[in-house]
Amino acid sequence: MTTLEQPAVCTLDCPDTCSLTVTVDSGRITKVRGSDALPLTSGVICNKVAHHSAEFVHGPARLTTPLKRVGPRGTNRFERISWEQALDFIYARVSEVIGSHGPEGVMPLNYAGPHGMLAGDSISLRFFHKLGASQLYRRSMCGGVRSEAWAGTYGLVPGIGPEAAENAKLTIVWGNNATVANLHLVRKIRMSLRKGGKLVVIDTLRTKIAEQADLHIAPRPSTDVLLAFALAVELKRIGAHDRAFIDQHGLGYDAFRARADDWPLEKAAAECGIKADDIRTLARWMADSDPLVIAPGNGLERGRNGGSGIRAAIALPALIGRLNATRGIALGAANSIAKSMA
Ligand code: SF4
Repeated sequence: MTTLEQPAVCTLDCPDTCSLTVTVDSGRITKVRGSDALPLTSGVICNKVAHHSAEFVHGPARLTTPLKRVGPRGTNRFERISWEQALDFIYARVSEVIGSHGPEGVMPLNYAGPHGMLAGDSISLRFFHKLGASQLYRRSMCGGVRSEAWAGTYGLVPGIGPEAAENAKLTIVWGNNATVANLHLVRKIRMSLRKGGKLVVIDTLRTKIAEQADLHIAPRPSTDVLLAFALAVELKRIGAHDRAFIDQHGLGYDAFRARADDWPLEKAAAECGIKADDIRTLARWMADSDPLVIAPGNGLERGRNGGSGIRAAIALPALIGRLNATRGIALGAANSIAKSMA
C-alpha cells in the first residue's frame, strides 16, 4: 500500500480556498486536514471537508462517468457512457446546432465552482467566446448582485482580505452569518477583540456572531440602504467625512449626499425599526476607529434593493477616508482580488 501526503486546495464553491494536506492510500483519500500553505486559513478547515471529503470523492453518489439520458425527460433514465463517447456526442450535437442555426444557437449554462484565480469562467468564457456562442446574462444569480454593486462602486479596485480584521479597531459584520459561512474571518475578529477591538454586527437575525458583538443592530430586511444613508449623515454631522480623500479619489459625492440627506437619523431609525442611538453610537465608533473593517456578506444582496444596500454600505469607509490595503471592505479571501473577465 502506498501512502502519499499531497498538498491541495479546497475545490468547493467557497471564497476561503483553504490549503489542504490530503492523505491518499492506494489512490483513495483517507484523511484531509488543513495546511499552513495559505496563511489566512493556516490549518483550520470546515467540518464538511475534514470529515466528508472521502465520501464525496469515493462514495456511491459520486459520478465517475458521464450519463446519457435514454428515456423521455423526467423519467430519470440514463446510461453510463465513456468520456470519449460523451465528447463525440457533444461534438456531433454542437456541430449540428451550429450548422443549422449558427454558433449563437449554442448557449452555455454554467456557474461558479472553485474560487481560485483559474475558476470563475476564466477558461470556459474564452472557449465559448471563441466558439461565438450566445452569452447568457447570468449576473442576477447568487453573488451577481454583489459583484455588480462592487464593480459599480469601486470598479476593479480590490477589497482587502479577511486577515485585515485581525488589527481592526472596529469590525462591522454586515449581513454575514460569519460563524457559519466565514470561519476564518471569525478567527481574525477574535484576535482583534483580544487586542481591544470592537465588533458590531448588522443583521436582521440574532446570529451567533451577533451574540458576541459589542453592538447588534437588527434592521428590518431590505432597509440596509437607509441605515447606511443615516450613518453617512451622522458621520457628516460629527465632522468625520474626509473631503481631501473624497476629492482625490471619489466621484459622485454630492449626488450621494443628496440622497443620503433625505434620511436623517430619526427618520431612518423609524423606517429600519432600530434605535436612533445605535446609529449614533456606530457612527461615533466608526469615526474614532482606525483601522476600520466592514465585512459584508451575501445577506445584504437578498432583497429587491440589495445592490443599493451594498453600494451604500461599502461607500461608508470611502466617505471617512478609511480605504487602503489594511482597512476598508473585507471580502472573501479569493474575492478580495478583483478579477477581470478579460
Ligand atoms: S472553509 Fe471553504 S474553502 Fe475551507 S475547507 Fe471549508 S469549504 Fe473548503
